[in-house]
Amino acid sequence: MTRPSHVRPRAARTVSTSAVASADRPTAPKLQSHGRVFNFSAGPACLPAAVLEQAQADLLNWQGSGMSVMEMSHRGKEFIAITDKAEADLRSLLSIPDNYKVLFLQGGASTQFAAIPLNLAEEGDKADYVVTGAWSKKAIGEGKRFLLANAAATGDNKSIPDPSTWNLTEGAKYVHYCANETIGGVEFKAPPSVGDAPLVVDMSSNFCARPVDVSKYGVIYAGAQKNIGPAGVTIVIVREDLLGRARASTPAMLDWSVAAKDGSMYNTPPCWSIYMCGLVFAHVLANGGLEAVEANNEKKAKLVYDAVEASNGFYASPVAREARSLTNVPFTIPSSPDLEKAFIAEAAQAGMVQLKGHRSVGGMRASIYNFMPLEGVQTLADFMREFAARHA
Ligand SMILES: *Cc1c(COP(=O)(O)O)cnc(C)c1O
Repeated sequence: MTRPSHVRPRAARTVSTSAVASADRPTAPKLQSHGRVFNFSAGPACLPAAVLEQAQADLLNWQGSGMSVMEMSHRGKEFIAITDKAEADLRSLLSIPDNYKVLFLQGGASTQFAAIPLNLAEEGDKADYVVTGAWSKKAIGEGKRFLLANAAATGDNKSIPDPSTWNLTEGAKYVHYCANETIGGVEFKAPPSVGDAPLVVDMSSNFCARPVDVSKYGVIYAGAQKNIGPAGVTIVIVREDLLGRARASTPAMLDWSVAAKDGSMYNTPPCWSIYMCGLVFAHVLANGGLEAVEANNEKKAKLVYDAVEASNGFYASPVAREARSLTNVPFTIPSSPDLEKAFIAEAAQAGMVQLKGHRSVGGMRASIYNFMPLEGVQTLADFMREFAARHA
């Protein structure tokens, strides 16, 4: 790798004395097993190496079936067993009550932006949306195509508007919010109280990042590719009494009751993605469940936010303290956009990739989802301190 010209002479730096580091390469990439980098991507995101190894071992011949999961009939007993176990494990992870259905759908969370109004309301009905960032803005935008979608509150992308100011509609068919705004890094720490209307939540970027009380929600939905698996499958957890209300024009593929009736097999489901999520759920269960995931996520988030706070203003977090996300941490170097570019480039050289902030926000963003190891975040926090010391 060639070193960019902005990097200072090596002698000026403290150099690790460990056997692998050499004075010549103070930022020699810190790699994990299989030469894997620390991947801070906002999604698709990193998965546990143990899960990828299991998938590799199963690839050509899944458990003596003589074929890979990609080649099986989705209606065969092997794949039904894979789906049933994935669902059972997710149910125990989240303690999902019996009166909720778990659906494995396609089309990403973005498809649910349309499926939600179609399943829960008629054309002239009203629904409330709490808009706290880019994803809830997309959700209300799509909602407006199908019903009267009211922006009950609109945030500043840095905080959550005070619930006492929300303009909730009498008779709203549901209240939608985004539990964690992936781009802005704004997160609800608890479900808001909204009265009788069913609460519909986009949990795409903090799904299974901590235990939640499913009974507080009418509908929970999440694309898999941030916290629980590869892209291609979207989880919808829906309370049973909300099924069977889809308007007549709802395409069968978007109708939750059709998916619920057919065990998510109205058509060919995303078999491989479901299988991978199943491996992840089993892995999490075997490693302490969501309490352990939460404890680890909190440690990781603290490392990054502490590095920002302790930098004497070298780094800044745009997000109000009480709304700071556990899983997506945007930060900037207010003194210089050039230093931000240098930070991202040097971090990549050191084995920490995908730290560039979303184009709409700029700066950096560390997505530290469930399977970013603590060691990766420690490496980032150390690098942040070292970089600040060199450039402050
Ligand atoms: C990534 C993301 C989406 C979009 O998910 P797709 O699966 O790509 O459609 C929606 N909402 C949130 C909060 C996200 O993080």
